Amino acid sequence: MVSEKGNAKALAAIEQVYESKPECEWRGFGKIAHSGLQLREEWKYYDAEKHFGLIPHEVSDLADVQCGAVLTGRMKPQQCPAFGGACTPNTPLGALMVSSEGACAAYYQYQGMG
Ligand code: SF4
Repeated sequence: MVSEKGNAKALAAIEQVYESKPECEWRGFGKIAHSGLQLREEWKYYDAEKHFGLIPHEVSDLADVQCGAVLTGRMKPQQCPAFGGACTPNTPLGALMVSSEGACAAYYQYQGMG
């Protein structure tokens, strides 16, 4: 059973290999300081981004979609201008419409039934 403080052994292993990343970009949220982890210098040999020369790119949503506002509860899915038009489960513009469990997909499937 894991205590409220977590699995000490696992946390120690994570602490040994990873450190807080100065900044991470999250779809719908933008850049948030110290919101992710990166490999510590002594483990950089295993860093796939470095190994394959990958360059992180901006993950910006299209200008007329409101995924971030829906994701953060500031807007209902049907208030997004793309909802049910350009964005449907068959033509998703955002992650919230991709999965049947996504807020927009659920609203789309059950709209008018509540
Ligand atoms: S998933 Fe589609 S409908 Fe939902 S907020 Fe994003 S663009 Fe709008």
